[in-house]
Amino acid sequence: MHIDKTLPKKILAWYDNSKRKLPWRVGKKSPKKLYYRLLSEFMLQQTQVKTVIPYFNKFTKKFKTIKALSKSNEREILKMWEGLGYYRRARNLLACSKILVQNYKSRLPRSIIEIKKLPGIGDYTANALLGLVYNEPRIAVDGNVRRVFSRNLNIEENKINFDKFIKKNKKKFFITKRNDDFIEALMEFGALICKPKDPNCLTCCLNKTCKYFKSSKKIKNIKNKMSKSKNYDIFCYINTKKQIALTKNNQISFLKDFNIPEIKETNNVSNNQNWIFLKNYKNSISNLKLNINLYYKFSKKIPRTFNWYSLKENKEFIPSFTKRIFRQVSTLF
Ligand code: SF4
Repeated sequence: MHIDKTLPKKILAWYDNSKRKLPWRVGKKSPKKLYYRLLSEFMLQQTQVKTVIPYFNKFTKKFKTIKALSKSNEREILKMWEGLGYYRRARNLLACSKILVQNYKSRLPRSIIEIKKLPGIGDYTANALLGLVYNEPRIAVDGNVRRVFSRNLNIEENKINFDKFIKKNKKKFFITKRNDDFIEALMEFGALICKPKDPNCLTCCLNKTCKYFKSSKKIKNIKNKMSKSKNYDIFCYINTKKQIALTKNNQISFLKDFNIPEIKETNNVSNNQNWIFLKNYKNSISNLKLNINLYYKFSKKIPRTFNWYSLKENKEFIPSFTKRIFRQVSTLF
């Protein structure tokens, strides 16, 4: 599995002419480099660039440095993260910033083993940070990068051992010494040119050597596997003050520790006699598909572990999953 030796230079030339202006792409010597990269890498996990930009700007306006971020607290960070989803990232980001400030003088450790000990940082992010911050010769293999290489070779992604592939092609990949730019360029190229659907092959700078483009038997895209749909019943205590009772979720692994109404996984033959059925709807979280039956009842009393929350405005952070329930329940008033 060998790449064409001209690939890095071609992709870098394309990147120099066509890259987007993104707020986390600061100069190579900028003191903000680590903070901006860390923040953007956390935010970009499972989220599109255009969604991330306003959140990134909001965070960097409020917290100018990683040190300032580390002095914040979970409540504040979650509130600012509201709407971006996958809230575990926000908690990990805060924890990460505290460790970097306290243990590493606000710098990124040089060892990949140390970096991977940081909360929420796996192989991909560790490689990306080492490459982007220290210009180390590394490839951060995300979905875009997997697709670009898999198409170039016209071999399905799941048949490529990317670690071995990178080691084998090391000399060709890191020929330019612009390792930081190459990481960015590969991801950008996958996002803008070698897209999941309808890649721009006719105008692509790699089409002369790309096996996918030349082949009459092209590989197919690997679709993200969604897990099977699960059924949940959700029970909402509400009152005439337009409030809803929420409790800290410790039963369902997604949204752990976040405020939600009572929720139970069911086999969809529920018999919830004391509750009034409001609506059935579908929701998806990460690769989980949820089939939700929503119930409610007006009540003055609520179980001890619940608290009342306004259906309109809350100072507390409310996850989007719960906000959607708010919108359904609000139709009753
Ligand atoms: S020629 Fe097409 S498939 Fe090949 S790298 Fe370019 S965009 Fe991707």
